[in-house]
Amino acid sequence: MAMESAASSVISEEERAQEIAQLKAGKTAQMANLIDESEISLAEDYALPGAEVTQEEASVEILSEQADEFTCASCFMVRHRTQLVREENGQKFCSECEG
Ligand SMILES: [Zn+2]
Repeated sequence: MAMESAASSVISEEERAQEIAQLKAGKTAQMANLIDESEISLAEDYALPGAEVTQEEASVEILSEQADEFTCASCFMVRHRTQLVREENGQKFCSECEG
């Protein structure tokens, strides 16, 4: 994350300098913004290999159960507590398995 933002800030600083130069030269702000956005999306594409690992780690964290969630003992899916229909010996079952 730190590397990504540092890299993009270097790019955007250059872009910003160009943008300001163009604005001072009388170019429209709209055109400068369009150029800036396409440069940013290119920078994000280059950052993908590193970001992919971070996203996988994040998705594992999302799967861990929250305070208002439970893990179904039958299908092992993390369900919201509104889907809890049966609890037996500390094992919880969701509406999909019990329905
Ligand atoms: Zn279930």
